[in-house]
Amino acid sequence: MKGCVVLKFGGTSVSTRERWENIEKIAASYLEKGEHPFIVCSAVSGVSNLLEALLPLAVKGEHAEQLDAIYQKHKVLADALELDLEEYIKPELELIQRVAHGASLTQEVSPRLHAMVMSCGELMSTKLGVAFLSREGGVLHGNVSWEDARDHLRAVSTQEGERNLTRHYLSARCGFEPSKEMQAKIEAKEEKVTITQGFIACDSEGHTVLLGRGGSDTSAAYFASILEASRLEIWTDVPGMFTANPRQVPSARLLKKLSYKEAQELASMGAKVLHPRCLDPVKQGQIPLHIRCTQQPELDGTVVSAQAADVGAQVKAISTKSGIPLISMETLGMWHQVGFLADVFQTFKSHGLSIDQVATSETNVTVSLDPVANALDSKALDALLKSLTQFCHAKRIGPCAAVSLVGQNIRAILHKLGPVLEAFEEHHIYMVSQSSSDLNITFVVA
Ligand code: ADP
Ligand code: ASP
Ligand code: MG
Repeated sequence: MKGCVVLKFGGTSVSTRERWENIEKIAASYLEKGEHPFIVCSAVSGVSNLLEALLPLAVKGEHAEQLDAIYQKHKVLADALELDLEEYIKPELELIQRVAHGASLTQEVSPRLHAMVMSCGELMSTKLGVAFLSREGGVLHGNVSWEDARDHLRAVSTQEGERNLTRHYLSARCGFEPSKEMQAKIEAKEEKVTITQGFIACDSEGHTVLLGRGGSDTSAAYFASILEASRLEIWTDVPGMFTANPRQVPSARLLKKLSYKEAQELASMGAKVLHPRCLDPVKQGQIPLHIRCTQQPELDGTVVSAQAADVGAQVKAISTKSGIPLISMETLGMWHQVGFLADVFQTFKSHGLSIDQVATSETNVTVSLDPVANALDSKALDALLKSLTQFCHAKRIGPCAAVSLVGQNIRAILHKLGPVLEAFEEHHIYMVSQSSSDLNITFVVA
């Protein structure tokens, strides 16, 4: 769709009046240039965490405070936006309350209800957002419309999803083929600015599903591809992708330009600023992705595109991931035996779990599971361990953290990484893995 720009605003970017005024200014300035802003929003900062914890608390009958905290967060924002909370988000607040009450009575939570409750975060932030942007006297008055993302993003059904309901409802993937039909629908609207939700989609039966924690970036990338947008902008609380998490490493440097491949590797290895599934749709559509800071819109940030400087062998950045369980599988029977790996990997498959890193020895295979790629909970891990016992002695280690050096041709510069290894002197290293594509070297530590 000609002139369409998809803008994604994360949790902190939609949490105060000041941020919403920035969103308004940014959208208005694009509109002035003749572009069509298509805005994708996350839930208000902190709300998805509150909603995620709500139903497990409800099962124990301890949800009252949590419900109040969810209400208060939206009340504070609505007051700042001078909106009547009840007028705009009463149905969602009531739904959350009803489901929590139901869970406290039945003492049961299904992934389907969990998805339904969590989707309310994005529904509420966008309903307040559209009311604010459309207010009388605002520059966008009469020019903003609200879309339900579930009318456009359809989850792809998979065999694993059918076997594993947690995966189906909480970590879905969607189709993102360009759709002339949706483009025509958006183009035909009188309002030139559209606002919709990140994180949520719909399955073939019309149930609400989620794209995994942090998945709003991926929603925005799906929309960019479907609408054939001229660019995707991820607006967040840091001014781009850095050589390390700037909140942990203040001396980290901004990476002004990255290729899709480099950004993919950084995101996959834990740079939370981009959800790892958001790169594929923009790469396929060759849509440039910009990472920018809502508090400082004057900064250029990072541009991810097909072009990137080829700088030879180097470590470009450090990414970390935490909350990673390791599964250690010990057996004497594996030595010179045929099919041990096939048997244990089949077990992971049948439990719908995707393996991340692998290390092997004569008697042991240890693998790591990525919490972003898997909907992991202790029930799922216990069931896995139980099935694995038929082949080996399996145990869970961790949760651990993975520290990755990300770059290219790292094998060629290993000799220069001596000082890096010294940094691990005081850490217990469980696993070292060097990616076969030579794009990262990863240390899994306690
Ligand atoms: P949003 O709510 O806008 O989606 P996130 O919290 O998901 O924001 O992502 C932004 C955060 O990502 C930053 O606040 C920063 O702490 C973290 N981060 C981790 N690694 C990096 C990195 N390499 N560059 C920039 N930010 C990073
Ligand atoms: N609100 C969701 C989360 O916190 C999705 C997102 O913000 O990307 O995981
Ligand atoms: Mg995010």
